[in-house]
Amino acid sequence: MTTVDLPLLPLGRGVDRASERGVDCPGDLPAASDPDLVARARAAKDALGERVFVLGHHYQRDEVIQFADVTGDSFKLARDAAARPDAEFVVFCGVHFMAESADILTGPDQQVILPDLAAGCSMADMARLFQVEKAWAALAEAGLQDVVVPVTYMNSSADIKAFCGRNGGAVCTSSNAEVALEWAFEQKGPDTKVLFLPDQHLGRNTAVLQLGYSLEDCVVWNPLLPGGGLTVEELQNARMILWKGHCSVHGRFSPDVVDELRAATPEINILVHPECQHEVVLKADYVGSTEFIINTIEAAEPGSSWAIGTELNLVQRLATAHPDKRIVFLDRDVCYCSTMNRIDLPHLVWALESLVDGIVVNRIEVDPDTEREALVALQRMLDLPGKTARD
Ligand code: SF4
Repeated sequence: MTTVDLPLLPLGRGVDRASERGVDCPGDLPAASDPDLVARARAAKDALGERVFVLGHHYQRDEVIQFADVTGDSFKLARDAAARPDAEFVVFCGVHFMAESADILTGPDQQVILPDLAAGCSMADMARLFQVEKAWAALAEAGLQDVVVPVTYMNSSADIKAFCGRNGGAVCTSSNAEVALEWAFEQKGPDTKVLFLPDQHLGRNTAVLQLGYSLEDCVVWNPLLPGGGLTVEELQNARMILWKGHCSVHGRFSPDVVDELRAATPEINILVHPECQHEVVLKADYVGSTEFIINTIEAAEPGSSWAIGTELNLVQRLATAHPDKRIVFLDRDVCYCSTMNRIDLPHLVWALESLVDGIVVNRIEVDPDTEREALVALQRMLDLPGKTARD
């Protein structure tokens, strides 16, 4: 029998800088097994000194997080980068949309680098600009566009944020989604509807559990179906038009695991992120952003038991940092965010050593028009009253 050696990516590698799907990584990556990688990363970082600022998202691996100058959620990290205008290079250990936001919020002389362009976000990829523009045109055809305000979650590409900016909408994070939706519903009078992108779960959980809308007030726009799979009457009756997108990590948590854990450990506290399905959030004791999850565990009583529904790297780090509390993952299987995990030590070393050699690799640069319109939507979020800027 003849065996054919099929490469893992039979259609080849490529790069699409206009999307979350870039997969090209030019140059020679150090081998992952290289025992000197830690020393090489440290030496490159030391050589660059204040010229480089390394950001590490909470969902990054430990091997990468150890080199982060600051850690945090996506919006905090973008603001941290903006607060360091002296740093020539911002190396973003996170995913593509986060690096875009950092580029939007940093100065024109600062260069933002994503160590692996394949570090996209499946949720952000679920709303492409051409699909959203098609939905917007369909809302116009149904005579509804004038009463619809688009709101996009931070976890979206820069061109979707720009779409919201030029169409009277705003960006939100998982901490301020309630205030952002309250603001949105005031924009077009009593008949206002919100088009919520791209995470249907955050939109539904916020509208129903925080603003008091019913599940019947929410419809789901499926970009893969003609007319979003909705009738004009369904659109007319809806208050929340939820984009059919979800996080492939948070969408995995299921209510039956909550039931099983409670049966096994009645005193267990269930703590989840609002990107989880509505049925899971309904069964949880506490719901909130990654920062909320971290703060809740820090404030928890020694000896208390917790099952956490968010990305596994963060849950693992919390369990290690709090050995006096019983912390478990809210799933039967291990599931990391595969795209967050694309940023590994070989890619970080490659990006840093290239900078030492005077070569900027994998720069993420948002075009000026998109940047200007995205900033409008981000500024509307920053102008919201009360709590504003946490993921
Ligand atoms: S955890 Fe979910 S939302 Fe965050 S980067 Fe991964 S797929 Fe995207």
